Amino acid sequence: MVALVTAAYREGRQLRVRGAAHSVSHATYTDPLAAIANRVEQQSPPPGENVNVMLDKYAGWRVKDEERKLVEVDAGIHLGADPSDPTGRATLESSLLYRLWRDKGWALSDTGGITHQTVSGFTATGSSGGSLQFSVNDNIWGIRAIDGTGEVYEVSRDDPDPDLFYSMSPNFGLLGVVSKITFECVDAFNITGQEAVTTMDGCAVDVVGNGASDRPSLEAFLREAEYARLEWWPQRGAERILTWQCQQIRPQLGFRPTRYEEFTDRPKIAEVVISLLFTILGNLDDLSQAKAKLQLTFDEVETDLEALAKVAKLGKIGRIVARALRELLEGGVGGAITMLEPFASLIERELPVIFPRVLGMFISLDNDKTGMQKGEPQSFRDWAWRGLPMDNQANDVLVPTEFTELWIPLPRTGDAVRLLNGYFTEPRDDREAYRRTGLNAWELYSAKPTRFWMAASHTTGDDEWKEGAFRIDTYWFAGNPGDPALTFYPPLWELFRESGIPFRLHWGKFQPVYEPGDRRWVDFFAVHYPRWNDFLRLRERRDPNNIFLTSYWRDRFGLWDAPTPKPTL
Ligand SMILES: Cc1cc2nc3c(=O)[nH]c(=O)nc-3n(C[C@H](O)[C@H](O)[C@H](O)COP(=O)(O)OP(=O)(O)OC[C@H]3O[C@@H](n4cnc5c(N)ncnc54)[C@H](O)[C@@H]3O)c2cc1C
Repeated sequence: MVALVTAAYREGRQLRVRGAAHSVSHATYTDPLAAIANRVEQQSPPPGENVNVMLDKYAGWRVKDEERKLVEVDAGIHLGADPSDPTGRATLESSLLYRLWRDKGWALSDTGGITHQTVSGFTATGSSGGSLQFSVNDNIWGIRAIDGTGEVYEVSRDDPDPDLFYSMSPNFGLLGVVSKITFECVDAFNITGQEAVTTMDGCAVDVVGNGASDRPSLEAFLREAEYARLEWWPQRGAERILTWQCQQIRPQLGFRPTRYEEFTDRPKIAEVVISLLFTILGNLDDLSQAKAKLQLTFDEVETDLEALAKVAKLGKIGRIVARALRELLEGGVGGAITMLEPFASLIERELPVIFPRVLGMFISLDNDKTGMQKGEPQSFRDWAWRGLPMDNQANDVLVPTEFTELWIPLPRTGDAVRLLNGYFTEPRDDREAYRRTGLNAWELYSAKPTRFWMAASHTTGDDEWKEGAFRIDTYWFAGNPGDPALTFYPPLWELFRESGIPFRLHWGKFQPVYEPGDRRWVDFFAVHYPRWNDFLRLRERRDPNNIFLTSYWRDRFGLWDAPTPKPTL
């Protein structure tokens, strides 16, 4: 890796490293980025002379200090198994969290909703699980990296002045190629928790209100819960919320896990139907665009007549969609689209009627005995490495999801969620309401405050971020047409900007798109990161030939005038 970086420095080429490719692709690869779409999907890097590296064979780990539980890991190791890994090497048995648990009885304090990521990708974007009490940031102890000239440097939490250590997560790959990360682990723990599916009024949390003594506000709930996330389906007529929460328990002898099931107790059928229906519903304007996606879903499934019978029960539209699905199963994608096309505008008009029914099939309220749920919240107990990443079961092919994620100072939680609720409920026209909510869920969760310079939950210790961040993660079904950063997300970003509620955005997810030279968003975010300029100065020092600085990252930081890499021989 040193030789590669040195060669890129001397020859004046860009160099970037990819992890599991779960961030938007332009955040990861070299120029020319115009040659590839900016999406969350496995895709080849752009063609050309620049260097794109994958560290799939660099995934070992070793104990550095048994007593302190210090474990040094190579940058390419994945946190958990990665089903989309193109090399097939990222298995459960090779993954960090599983090996730590199995071989050492150790763990990291939290994980994100999935654990497909590599350790270096996760930390490079400042990713985080949903907790105000626990964070992987507290486990990161040291980082070894190769700067833009090929020199190796190391920083650690125990440095006499650890300030530079705190520049390293997120680092966006702009401070060098991270080659090793040392984690200070904790003793392994299990978790116990539950997920309730309720209406907004029936929720144990007063999500959009101020709370009462027997029903906490959202902010109070997030402060109290050890690990929590709410999945809000705000679509008109379908309004419901999934409240997932859990806490640590000490490992018991003979512990028998009861696993959390996403998408009801029939996950596969649910995912197939959701995927097919979302693809059809999201592409009603031009069904031919849905062809490739439907084909992909179709390739993943076996004939599923049971699912068809369920869809057919959804009234007139349900019968039309069921016929199309049958056509799909029997005659292929072309036949299904031909069959559906004449009904597209009817289905679109009826969306506010059909969508609540579709959702109700798979995300039925706990007290709805006719649904698939058992009439009560789902309880689960699990090993932390398996239970904390509650979305690991979602299939990236069937329900490919993309996101933008706003991080807001915790004390502003109530204002933020009420602003959002007003945005959803205000339109008199149902179709406008659906345009605002989209057809996917909105995840509400939190992150612990941290000293890491560019983290979206960064705090100076005496600012309004000091108690942590409230996060709004807006899901986008990637089978829908168009680029959500140009269509679905801008009104949301503008809504919050105009409201005056401060916010930062998750660095690995969608961000505003603008022309080079347009500083409107650059200046907005610069104000919200007190170490912004320190980071840019350090970047210049670590990467004097700008070999890590792609057009995407120039846009993010307004670095359009920085020279392009030149041969230094
Ligand atoms: C389904 C899904 C669920 C998610 N859930 C969560 C969640 O719960 N919480 C959360 O915070 N985020 C979440 N994310 C976002 C995800 O954690 C980030 O996008 C993360 O960066 C992905 O890690 P990766 O290994 O795929 O890295 P990649 O996306 O491949 O890379 C991320 C960045 O790291 C850089 N990089 C990678 N390796 C190195 C290296 N060795 N040296 C220097 N730079 C490097 C890349 O160039 C790129 O800039 C989710 C994403 C998806 C798709």
